[in-house]
Amino acid sequence: MRIAVISMHTSPTASLGQNANGGLNVYVREVCNAFSDRGVATDVFTRLQSPDDPAEEALAPLSRVIYLPAGRDLDKYSLLNEVPAFASKVAAFTTEHDIQYDLLFSHYWLSGEIACLLRPQLAAGWAHVAHTLGLVKNRRLAAGARPEPAMRIRVEAEIAQQADLLITSTLDEAGELVSSYGAAADRVFVVPPGVDLATFRPLDRAEARRKIGYANGPLLLYVGRLERLKGVEIAIRALAMLADRAHPGLRLFVLGEDSRDGDESEKERLKGIASELGVRDRVDFLGSVAHHELPYFYSAADVCVMPSYTESFGLVGLEAQACGCPVVASGVPGLRSVVRDEVSGYLIDGDDPSSYADRIGRLLTNPELAQQMGRRASMLAQRFSWTRTADRLLSLFDDAIDGSQTRVQVGITHE
Ligand code: UDP
Repeated sequence: MRIAVISMHTSPTASLGQNANGGLNVYVREVCNAFSDRGVATDVFTRLQSPDDPAEEALAPLSRVIYLPAGRDLDKYSLLNEVPAFASKVAAFTTEHDIQYDLLFSHYWLSGEIACLLRPQLAAGWAHVAHTLGLVKNRRLAAGARPEPAMRIRVEAEIAQQADLLITSTLDEAGELVSSYGAAADRVFVVPPGVDLATFRPLDRAEARRKIGYANGPLLLYVGRLERLKGVEIAIRALAMLADRAHPGLRLFVLGEDSRDGDESEKERLKGIASELGVRDRVDFLGSVAHHELPYFYSAADVCVMPSYTESFGLVGLEAQACGCPVVASGVPGLRSVVRDEVSGYLIDGDDPSSYADRIGRLLTNPELAQQMGRRASMLAQRFSWTRTADRLLSLFDDAIDGSQTRVQVGITHE
């Protein structure tokens, strides 16, 4: 099987935790790796990000990234104008190299629109992963966050009508595709993402703390791109409440950089809030950290905090749990599929910092409870792996390809 993966918006080789680079990039990279192990070849088409990027780069023995010059430095909404040009470049590449694909596998609405244009000429089947949905994001916006425009929602609806397979991470998202976007239920499949369990595993806490240069005291951790929807402000407000009470040495490490979704820097805004609350010296903005270094941080922390306003899955929660770190998260559908309330952490409805302070406080004052939840968290994480994700995807792809071939043959017979 040979698959054309369309990832126009961001590249699987990009540095994570900044700009738009997060879960989607990890997903594409890990799935292509696992496909390669199973003898399935992938060409990942993405944008050239800098003049130094090569034209092609190997991702795995049977996977390569192909960088196409299109819309460098444009924001995601302006990128829609580049979709036809990007699609033409993908088509030209395949003609020039005489490649036939069995399937198009698109990620995010912009790439879905490209697949929509390419499908008639390039491959018989088309599978799409939305990663996030505009309508869902708009339903629960953080104060001051920019709503997703109607144009994105129109594109998402078009994809929902036309793709052969719509892959979602959770049952909730599958329901949204059917009820809010009008997708046919028999084309929607839930395939949870995974975690690299060889890398993300519990490490000795003292050793992990030595490694990250943090000796003593209770430690909260946030990991992810910095943008309003991630709710880091709530974590800072909860920290301020706890630091006032019984936890004078408490610190919060914030890993990740600005998502640059608008003009404002979320990092600067968060620093301002921490200063106003008198806890600026307790919040360390450490910038983005390489993925393979994260197990040290998750293993060193007492609690990983994820106060997201919306999350279609939340890989960070899964990674933290795989490292034995309890997670205090918002009870949005994506995080509900990762964190078990009162088992591997706590889920909180709403965005009240005092609820977060309460649950975090419970874990800090009761290390035995925290350890027990950490152990259960790492056990729960064992059910998720990228190999399992890849196997489920490939079995769906096989069926879709068989189905599309039957359709083509039937068409010929009737002629
Ligand atoms: N990440 C990273 N370094 C950072 C911040 C984030 O490697 O400094 C990774 C993180 O480990 C996770 C991904 O970026 O794998 C974020 O995925 P998630 O699903 O939590 O959020 P998204 O970016 O999809 O909103």
